[in-house]
Order: sequence, then C-alpha cells, then structure tokens
Amino acid sequence: MRIAEVIIPLPVPEPFDYLVPEEMVLAPGDHVLVPLGPRRVWGLVRDVRETPATNRNLKAVAERIAVTPLPANTLAFVEWASRWQIAPPGDPMAIALRGLRSEPPRPPKRLVLTGEPPSKLTAARERVLEAAQAGSPTAVALAEAAGVSTGVVKALIDDGALTWVELPEDQAFAEPDPDHAPAALNPSQAAAADVLGQMIRQGGFQAALIDGVTGSGKTEVYLEAVAHALRADPDAQILVLLPEIALTQAVIARFAQRFGVEPAEWHSGVSGPKRRRVWDAVVAGDARIVVGARSALFLPFRKLALIVVDEEHDSSFKQEDGFIYQGRDLAVARANIEKAMVVLASATPSLESLWNAEQGRYRWLRLSARHGAAQMPEIGLIDLRETPPEHGRWLSPPLVEALADTYARGEQSLLFLNRRGYAPLVICKACGQRMTAPDTDSWLVEHRYTNRLVCHLTGFSMRKPDKCPHCGAKDSLTSIGPGVERIEDEVKSLFPEARVAVFSSDTVPDGQSARELVERMAGHEIDVMVATQAAAKGHNFPMLTLVGVVDADLGLKGGDLRAGERTFQLLAQATGRAGRHERPGRALIQTWQPEHPVMQALKAQDRDAFVEAESAEREAARLPPFGRLVALVLSSPDPSALEAVARNLAAAVPNAEGAEVYGPADAPLALIRGRRRKRFLVRADRGVDIQGLVSTWLSRVKVPASVRVVVDVDPYSFL
Ligand code: ADP
Repeated sequence: MRIAEVIIPLPVPEPFDYLVPEEMVLAPGDHVLVPLGPRRVWGLVRDVRETPATNRNLKAVAERIAVTPLPANTLAFVEWASRWQIAPPGDPMAIALRGLRSEPPRPPKRLVLTGEPPSKLTAARERVLEAAQAGSPTAVALAEAAGVSTGVVKALIDDGALTWVELPEDQAFAEPDPDHAPAALNPSQAAAADVLGQMIRQGGFQAALIDGVTGSGKTEVYLEAVAHALRADPDAQILVLLPEIALTQAVIARFAQRFGVEPAEWHSGVSGPKRRRVWDAVVAGDARIVVGARSALFLPFRKLALIVVDEEHDSSFKQEDGFIYQGRDLAVARANIEKAMVVLASATPSLESLWNAEQGRYRWLRLSARHGAAQMPEIGLIDLRETPPEHGRWLSPPLVEALADTYARGEQSLLFLNRRGYAPLVICKACGQRMTAPDTDSWLVEHRYTNRLVCHLTGFSMRKPDKCPHCGAKDSLTSIGPGVERIEDEVKSLFPEARVAVFSSDTVPDGQSARELVERMAGHEIDVMVATQAAAKGHNFPMLTLVGVVDADLGLKGGDLRAGERTFQLLAQATGRAGRHERPGRALIQTWQPEHPVMQALKAQDRDAFVEAESAEREAARLPPFGRLVALVLSSPDPSALEAVARNLAAAVPNAEGAEVYGPADAPLALIRGRRRKRFLVRADRGVDIQGLVSTWLSRVKVPASVRVVVDVDPYSFL
C-alpha cells in the first residue's frame, strides 16, 4: 500500500499519514483534500512511500486538487524553515499556500462585433453596431454609448452580431527587458555591479552585501544585478524583498522604468484574487520579477536565480507573530536551497551581515559616496539640557530656527519621531492615574484625529472619556509627551502658512495612500512632513534639505540587545533623507545625552567606529552575532498553570557545553489580553546546535492546553 505524508497548514506538530487510494496518482508537492476530524482540509503531500500492508487504521486521501504542485525546492525550503524556527511545518506551509485562498480574478472580457450581419437592422441597432466598433467592457456601457436600451444590445448578442471575447492576458507578467533603459553607473557603482554580474554568471549559491551610504545608488546597483540574472538565464526569476509596503510603489516604479514592465507585487495590501494571480504566475514561471514583503519568500518559484533584500538591517523583516521568522536570514537559506544568488543591501547593515562579510561568507561591496553632486548631510546634535524647548513644546529653539530658514528658502523639512498618535500617555491631573488598557500591561496612546485612546499592542481602543474613570474628576485628563500628531500641531502654530502632513501607519494605512503622500512630498506640495519610521527610509525627496530628529533617545530606552544598533540605524536612515540631490542637506538631532556613543557616531558619521564598539561589547558577552539566542515566551490566563510549566521547564533544562538558560522571569510586558507572561532566554555559542537543544528541552515537559509556549529563534523583541 502507499502512504502519503501530508503537511496540513495548521499548527499540528507533524505531517499526517494518509492512505493513497488505489487509483490515485500522487507525488510530493501535490495538493490534496484530506479528512481531519469532521472536516476536510487542504494539505500538501511531502512524500509518498510504499509500505507493506499494515493494520494501521489510516484514513484515505479524499481528493487530489488540480493546482500546480509546489516545486521541490519550495517544499524543501518550507521544511527547512520549520526545523530552523522550531515550529510545526504547517506554519510556514500556511504562508506558502496563502496565495491560494482566493480564486484568480476572472479574465477581462469585451463585447465585440462578430462580423455577421443581424437578421434585421433598425436605426437603434445600427447605432449599437457603430458604437461597438471599438468593443465595450459591458452591455450597459455600449447601450449608453449608442443611446439605446440594453435590450437592443442583448437582442444583437442573441442574434449573433455581437459576442463576448476574453481579452488576452494583460501585461502584468510580460517579459522584462534587461537592456530596456540601463543607467549610466558611476565608477564605484559599475565596479560593484560587475562583481555581482560575475558572481551570477558563475552560478550556484553565493551571497553579497551592498554596503553603501544613503543615496550612493545601491538600488541602481542591484537593478544591474537583476539585469545580469535576466541575461544569464532566459527563465530566471527574481525576488526583491522590502521592509515596508510604503516603499514598494517607488521601487516598482524604478523597476518599470529600468525593465520596461512592472514587476509583480506581493504583500498584505494586495487583494486576494490578485495574489492568487501572482501565485499562479510564479509557479508557472511567468512572473519573472516579484517585489514584495517578507512573506513573498514562501512563493513557489520555479527557477529562482536572485533574491535581493533591500534595507536588510530592518527589523520589519522579523515576523513576530504566527510563524516567527527572520526574513533576511530565511532569504539566505532559500537562496542556498535554490543554488541562487542573494544580495543584501543597506546603508547601515546589521552586525550579523557585517560579521558575515568580515568572515568572507558574503562578498562585501562598499559604496562610500553619494552619487553625483549630492553630499552627505551635515549632522548636528542639539543638547536639550542647554537649549530646551519652551514649556509644553517639543521643538527646541535651534531646530525651530532651522525649520524657519528652510521654509523661507522654499525647501522641505522632515521631522522624525517614532511615535504614532498625539500623546503616548494620558494621566489624570486629579488622582495621578495613568490610563491603561484593560487586561494588558500597557498605557493607552491618545489619538486626536479620532479622539480615541488606543492600545498599540492589542488594538483595543475607547473614546477619550471626559471624566477620569478612576476618580471621576471632570476634564482632568492630561496628555503627556509628544506623538507625531502633536508635533504637527506645534509646526502649524509656528508656521501657520506652511503645508504640513503626517506620515504614519494611521495616516497612511495602505500602499495607495502611501504612494499619494510620497508623490505629494516629492512634488513639493508639502513643506514639513512629520513622520514615524514609516517614512524614514528609502525615499528620495529632491527638495528635502532639513531632517530634525525630535527625540533621539527614545529607542535607547528599554535596553534590549539591539537598542543601540537599532537607534543608530534608524537615525542614520532618517538623517540620510536630507540633501539627496543638488541642494546640500543637514540634520539636527535633539537629545538629552549628546555624549552617548550612538549620538557621537551619528554626528561624526563614523559608522565603522560605532560598529566596532558595539561588536566588542557583543563579543565579550558572546551575544549575536558571536553567539545565538532563542527565547521561550510562556503565557496563560491561569497563573498557577503558568507557574507550574515554568517550574517544570526550569527543572528540565538540558546540560550542554557552551550554552546557558536564563529564566524564568516575568516578561517586561507581564500581562497581555489577560494572559500572564514569562520568559526564558537560551544563549549558545555558534558551534552549538541550539535548535536541537531547545527541541530536546521542550520534549521533556508536558504543557497543558491552557499554557502557550512560543519559541522565538533569534529574538528581536525582548518584551
Ligand atoms: P540608495 O539606494 O543607495 O539610497 P539610490 O539608488 O536610490 O540610492 O540613488 C539615490 C539617487 O541617486 C536616486 O535618485 C537615483 O536615481 C540617483 N542615482 C544613483 N545612481 C545614479 C546613476 N548612476 N545615474 C543616475 N542617477 C543615479
């Protein structure tokens, strides 16, 4: 008998075995429907094996689904990702099959003349035939154009004079032309692109890091790498991963310009039917270039030749819920499985990638100057102890003066503050209570546009009350600290004539609105943009010459492993928006601790010194990239069950050379949605099989259904 091992896209620990019915032909990668309890669920065949008949009481595969099988490499990647992240294979499989949830959009149709004359001809019919020369998308439109009722049109269809035709596939997946519009690269760009070209022609798995200052033309260089890949293999597929939906539109436009056709787009903002069409085109090999978010890594590429990870340092590549994974690292793994090339690009590469480059694992390509006449911005620190803002304000006098200068010169400014909403904290003046979310350890953030108090962790929100819910005092709630909306107010009161806009995930919820706001900024319809990190990276605004960082110290609080690194990266990106074209730019950074190494490195624009100091600290503590971490996050609505699991885990810690387990400790966010939380942290030397260690450990402890244990390999969040 034949048995199919089927991965079901649900969090069940293992693939399930099903009997293959006699007449059914099945192979690895096939899609099937299988019975699971009372339901039938979609599954993917990972293997089919022959076994002697057993008396095992197996259920049979119900049906083979007529969808193109998952290519072997995609299947291998899904299984690898599951092992690496210590997660059930169904979790990454669910992402790989996500594109299949919708039916593809119906192909567009048009009503056209058949050339057959109608059985009888009236004046109304004649007008319709006249109007139908160019074809029409609907009967209603045609009737309107001819000034007749739709009945006349329908009669002509019945009569055989008009008919519906399906239009040929639209141009979405047309062949990109590597020689459509090549850029004239400057010498250092050309040198980097040549190296990438050689590597691609050589073939096989290879990795490169494009490490170039903001505005040096990293995008131009990787566009040439894409061209090389297209030339080297007429069937090559290319994947470009971006950290932010807001960036995709601009990158898609640059691809369209360079290769003459738009690449396929893949992220959560793309509708289900469109995603289905992309999925189908990727598995068929028709979608040649895909630009998307991290989940595009799980698309069923037929012949993946090159993966580009732009802004590779960005923590948005880390998926933090559901299937937890680091997109950048999995991109390298996928390239390895596909024997493809992977190119990571950043102005502020992660310590991990720099370390890999130093070790010679990644080819290190540096671009140290901006393209053309553009210069790096001048960066100044504003010591808030010396020149504090006026009471109740957040912009210090030197920054206000710089804004006034910039505005007077007809140039643009960007004020960067990585905080959504109006105020991060609301307290009662009468009783001193902070407004907190119910069942969650977090403060409510005030949003003025909607007049609501919002929990950014859980999405809980409530109307801002006019009385304190604790003491009942009227009009006693006070907003503490600034968010972007409050900075917008301040700018408007300082410069009533200026055109001010806010760029945050609240004002720019989707790709379309991001494109519009970016276009308005690029077209100089905005004088001052107040932005969270959603706008800090990647964009090119020619008239932007001043970047002000409102609170540079914000990211340094909380003290997680990467606080310094992340702050440096974010601020280097934000300040790097200034002066990207002919007009020189400057950046002013407001800080209470100008002597902090991060601030000093930013001012001196000495990234290497910062990286060296930060690396030395990490190396001494044998933290990533010099060691590896896995976090275990336990949570439960039942505190005693949580205690018991934590205790049992603590007692079952395996002994391993070169590894330590810390915890259990209450998580900094000890309560979310009514669930108490505890954490363990495993640290191991690089030679240690940390996945094996953690799997063994977990297998020793029975966890009741009321307790959830989430394994976070290479954690970025320590909450
Ligand atoms: P990065 O990705 O390093 O931030 P970009 O590739 O976006 O840099 O380049 C910054 C700006 O300089 C863009 O407007 C880009 O079009 C322009 N640019 C870079 N290199 C060239 C080149 N060789 N020829 C023309 N324009 C270039």
